[in-house]
Amino acid sequence: MGENDFIIVISIGLCIVAICIIAFCIGRIQNKQYEPKVVETSKRYSDITRLNKEYKFNNVSSKIVYSKTLNTKQMFDKFDLDAYFQQMVELNMSELRQKKAYLLENATLKKSYDSELQNIHGFADEEYVKKLKLSWKRYHEVELELCNLIEKNPPQNIEIICYKLYTSPKGQNSYTQNKRFFSYELEKAFQKAIESKKIRESKEYQRRTMSDSLRYDILKRDGFRCVLCGRSAADGVKLHVDHIKPIAKGGKTVEFNLRTLCEHCNWGKSDKFDSDGVN
Ligand SMILES: [Zn+2]
Repeated sequence: MGENDFIIVISIGLCIVAICIIAFCIGRIQNKQYEPKVVETSKRYSDITRLNKEYKFNNVSSKIVYSKTLNTKQMFDKFDLDAYFQQMVELNMSELRQKKAYLLENATLKKSYDSELQNIHGFADEEYVKKLKLSWKRYHEVELELCNLIEKNPPQNIEIICYKLYTSPKGQNSYTQNKRFFSYELEKAFQKAIESKKIRESKEYQRRTMSDSLRYDILKRDGFRCVLCGRSAADGVKLHVDHIKPIAKGGKTVEFNLRTLCEHCNWGKSDKFDSDGVN
């Protein structure tokens, strides 16, 4: 094959491509011209338009991105995306709850929207289009396109993407990793957040409920002596009322969990708790 032949082949190829593009454009233009006619005459199109006016979906984004940039590769490796997700959920709890509620509302509405959509007017048939003196093939193509375009498809499912990122100081190496979380994980994170909040609150509550009067009752019950070494104020020690099972480990401020300790015995103990009962 000579150089000329090669040029001819290329030229023919380019002509074919050009013709296809032109044909496609003409098709698009003709479709564009059909659009107002379809909008005016399609029963399905007008039914969907009416339906759309009845349904008000929440305009919320379903995707949320949280990202954390780490300072060293070691920090990047150690960084736990599940824990980060939990932390972000706790920080943005009310906003996420609201979003989830909106999306759930969308999902419920969409179900009934879809079932109404099944009962509305179908696409125009050939006979109907012929009466309008239009080409059925083109009409149908345009009707399908327009109806798909206006059919509502609101966001329904939440998706949370957590990223961790690290770029080496000179920018030579970049690391990124992500994990996706959905509605189910979000609900679990909500529950976990509520539970840990409860425990936190109850620890504070347990500390607050230790009153002077309760303190006195315990000292009195124990004979104003350390229950471990037996020393009293007369021996020059300060007496404390101690939680046998520490508050930090879920111990309650109730008589049976309280005892008198001198400061020396109490210091040695701090937050230790032996579940075998050797305390
Ligand atoms: Zn003691």
